[in-house]
Amino acid sequence: TKLRVGLLFGGRSGEHEVSINSARAIAKALSAEQNANKYEILPFYIQKDGRWLAGEAPEKVLETGTPLLESEQSTSVGNLTSNPQTQTLSKWQSPSQVAQVDVWFPILHGPNGEDGTIQGLLTLMQVPFIGSGVLGSALGMDKIAMKMAFEQAGLPQVKYKAITRAQVWSNPCVFPKLCDDIEAALGYPAFVKPANLGSSVGIAKVRSRQELEAALDNAASYDRRLVVEAGVVAREVECAVLGNDQPQASVVGEITYDSDFYDYETKYTEGRADLLIPAQLPDAIIRKIQDMALQAFAVVDAAGLARVDFFYVEATQEVFINEINTLPGFTATSMYPQLWAHSGVSFPELVDRLIQLALERHSPN
Ligand code: ADP
Ligand code: MG
Ligand code: MG
Repeated sequence: TKLRVGLLFGGRSGEHEVSINSARAIAKALSAEQNANKYEILPFYIQKDGRWLAGEAPEKVLETGTPLLESEQSTSVGNLTSNPQTQTLSKWQSPSQVAQVDVWFPILHGPNGEDGTIQGLLTLMQVPFIGSGVLGSALGMDKIAMKMAFEQAGLPQVKYKAITRAQVWSNPCVFPKLCDDIEAALGYPAFVKPANLGSSVGIAKVRSRQELEAALDNAASYDRRLVVEAGVVAREVECAVLGNDQPQASVVGEITYDSDFYDYETKYTEGRADLLIPAQLPDAIIRKIQDMALQAFAVVDAAGLARVDFFYVEATQEVFINEINTLPGFTATSMYPQLWAHSGVSFPELVDRLIQLALERHSPN
C-alpha cells in the first residue's frame, strides 16, 4: 500500500505564494515515475486567513498555482486562528483526511510555518513529519536565539546587537542612548531586522542616524525582537544540508543581483537574481563553508533539511555565517533543490529521501 503524504502548504505568512509554488513542485516530484507507486498525496491548504482546507480545494490550488479566495472555499477541516467559536476539538479528532495521513510534509515558510508552531502541532498528533522539530525550527527562525547558538558553537558571524520593541517604543528617553550605542558598536551601514521573519520582510540597510531610527521603528512593528547587524561587503553563498544525525552538505551555490541587497523584491521578481552553482570559490573555502553548514545544522538541532547562508568576504577570505533556514524555498528553481541536483540528488529522489528521514526520526532503529 502507498504511504499517504499530507502536503501542508499556503499559510498566513507573507510567503504564502512561495509556499504554493514549493508545494506544486513537491507534488510533481511525488507523482514522478520513481515515487508514484510509493506515495499518495493528500493536500492540505491553509488559506491566508488561517483556515485549513482539504480535498478538492487544495487540489485546485496545486493545479492552478493561485491562492484560493474566501468565497471559493469548500470543506474546511478546522480553523486554528480566526474564529474561536468554530474551533472545536472534534474537528481535529475526527476529520477523515487528517487521520489518513501517514507522514506530513509541511512546506510553509515564515511565522507559524517554520518557527516550531506547526511542528508542535504535528508532534502532538504523533505522526512523522518532514524537517526539524520544535527546537530546531524555533532556533532557526529567531535570529537572536540563532546567533546565540552559533556563538556558542564558535561559528564566526558579523557583529550585532539584540534589541526589543520595548526599547524602541516604550521609553523615549532611552531611545537616543540606544541609537548611540548601536552607532558606536556597529557603525554604518548597518542592517536592521525583525528577529522572526524571512524573505527580507521588514529588513532595512541604514546609513545614517535618521535611517536607523526609522528602520528600528518599522522593524518593531513586525516583531517584539529585533537585531541590528554591522553591514559587510561580501558575496552571498549558500549550502544545503540533508540528513538527521549524519547529515550531508551539498555543493556551495552563490547568489548574485544588482540591487542594494537581497531584498524581498530581488528575491521574488523573475530575473532579478541569479543562482550560480557551483560557486567559484577556492576549495579550502568550500570545505570550510560545508563544515560550518553541518555545524550550524547540529547546533540548532535541525533535522531532515536546512539551507545555511553565508557571507564570504573575498578581500580577507573570511566566511561569516548569516543564517539557517529550516524550511527553505522548495520550488523547481529554488536554491535548495538546485544545490542537491548539482550534488547528484534529483528533485524526486530528494523528496523521497526527506520522507524516509522523517520516518527514521519518528521511530529510530
Ligand atoms: P532573511 O531571513 O529575511 O533572508 P537575512 O538576514 O538573510 O534575512 O537578510 C536578507 C538579506 O539582507 C541578505 O541576503 C543580504 O543581502 C542582506 N544582509 C543582511 N544582513 C547583512 C549584513 N550584516 N551585511 C550585509 N548584507 C546583509
Ligand atoms: Mg531567513
Ligand atoms: Mg536570508
